[in-house]
Amino acid sequence: KEEHLRKPEWLKIKLNTNSNYTGLKKMMREKKLHTVCEEARCPNIHECWAERKTATFMILGDICTRACRFCAVKTGLPTELDWQEPERVAESVEQMGLKHVVITAVARDDLKDGGAAVFAETVRAIRRKNPFCSVEVLPSDMGGNYEALKTLMDAKPDIMNHNIETVKRLSPRVRARATYDRTMEFLRRAKEMNPDIPTKSSIMIGLGETKEEIIETMDDLRANNVDIMTIGQYLQPTKKHLKVQKYWTPQEFFELKQIALEKGFSHCESGPMVRSSYHADEQVNAAKTN
Ligand code: SF4
Ligand code: SF4
Repeated sequence: KEEHLRKPEWLKIKLNTNSNYTGLKKMMREKKLHTVCEEARCPNIHECWAERKTATFMILGDICTRACRFCAVKTGLPTELDWQEPERVAESVEQMGLKHVVITAVARDDLKDGGAAVFAETVRAIRRKNPFCSVEVLPSDMGGNYEALKTLMDAKPDIMNHNIETVKRLSPRVRARATYDRTMEFLRRAKEMNPDIPTKSSIMIGLGETKEEIIETMDDLRANNVDIMTIGQYLQPTKKHLKVQKYWTPQEFFELKQIALEKGFSHCESGPMVRSSYHADEQVNAAKTN
């Protein structure tokens, strides 16, 4: 029988079961929308939805053409491409009164543009209805299609976020199809296309990487002009997914944050519960004043 690491105290948080989002959850079902907040059962949902007025929508369906070994999204061959979805997302952002929204999507390797046209339209639809809400996009690498990336950059998101996920050595084992170098190139090109839009990337730690490898990843992100970094603890979504190799301590997360800031990132969120979209609202302004 394989040994599992025991979850440390700092991760045994109490889920806020009193939060009543029945209305919002019902609205999501009615509008056939998916949020990462709900589907990943994110423990930050109360803080994000109620206090910070931020949420992460997953567009282009809930079936992904890839199967990364850390991710709980269903894998398969998606069929739908819903041109009404951008409008429904924009309406929900309005109903929720969001101040910052993150739009992510499954990887649609079945589509020539990876879904970039619908993605860009979603950004524009949100802007039309919610001129004061900042919009962060978190796309897949779109199969390395840089015309598709341009389509999305031309919609002028407030933040372009694309995750490196893990260190170089572990990338082939952890990610499906996406590579470390292509992610770096994607981020570099996004910055070249529009230097005014801050770029951002996240790493999950606890998959067996060393501190040196994390620092090397920071250097590579900075070499590709990435402005914002987030660092969070990997948690195994189901038994079929990769096992946790180490629980980094809150103190270690704090030290990593200091190193990231010394490396020149304008903002770094680092902590056991940090997710790519956590405290994203603060980063818009932090990046702009830098
Ligand atoms: Fe949603 Fe991200 Fe907040 Fe979690 S951290 S509730 S996924 S916006
Ligand atoms: Fe999950 Fe994204 Fe990988 Fe698809 S591409 S399996 S949504 S991490």
